[in-house]
Amino acid sequence: MKKKPNLIFALRDDDVSYFTSAINYQEFLDTYVKEHSLISGVITAQKGKPCMAIPQKYWNTNLNYPIKENHAILNLLSILETTGNFFPAIHGYEHSYDVFGNTWIPELQQKNAHLNLRINIEKAEELFLDLFRNPLKLFIPPSNSLSPKCASFLFSRSYTLFNYPGLKRNSRNTIKGTFYRILRAYSIKFNKRDLLKPYNENKDSICYNSVSLLGLDSQLKLQKIADYCSSNNYPFILALHNWELDHYKIGGIGTFGETLLDILNFLGENYQIVRFIPKAKSILEKI
Ligand SMILES: [Zn+2]
Repeated sequence: MKKKPNLIFALRDDDVSYFTSAINYQEFLDTYVKEHSLISGVITAQKGKPCMAIPQKYWNTNLNYPIKENHAILNLLSILETTGNFFPAIHGYEHSYDVFGNTWIPELQQKNAHLNLRINIEKAEELFLDLFRNPLKLFIPPSNSLSPKCASFLFSRSYTLFNYPGLKRNSRNTIKGTFYRILRAYSIKFNKRDLLKPYNENKDSICYNSVSLLGLDSQLKLQKIADYCSSNNYPFILALHNWELDHYKIGGIGTFGETLLDILNFLGENYQIVRFIPKAKSILEKI
């Protein structure tokens, strides 16, 4: 029988917060994660704002809910770390939005986001040091989005980032867009670092790109991405939200959880899955 090609693989689950039930999370681990590598995005103090990840009765409280108060989930996460294939990542402080009409501005694109990030990263690191034996400096930008200033700050703290898309197309021709273009060019020239297109595109990248479960709408697309990652030895990191897996797909048949199981079966049948282990500094190193 022909040997299957290797595929470095991990699941990336965002949105572990005060509102994540430990029982549901254990079910998620047993049903989908099993032996795979898992990167979990931990939100330090989720804000009560409209968000599918939190119960509706909290949508307008505007209060912060610290994950520290959900002892069951903290306990589960710290046990998980001992398995060796679990990697907690910081996923923002409150994962909130500023809403102006139809425009939703995510946490790390808001005014003064970089100043708040300085304070909030300290709180998140404290939590990780309390909980985990060897927490890594991993960061998943909330809503996959952050300003160049925030990116620059995280790089200066030696964080490894899990993708972000950079400038939105429609903002490129504005004064702000021009400003960001200059900032980007400056950073490439002097810091040898591209703040807007970081993953695997230059030798200084300390970012990993991810593929969204929501965007994988055909087996052909899945196979193309898996083949590309496999032949280039890039990790295939499948990003999802644990809370969306029992949601039905819009216009499609079945739930996102069923799609995920199909994907995992397909990959297992066609590739030799190698557990992804992120390269990153430890939070402990700063002490
Ligand atoms: Zn999120």
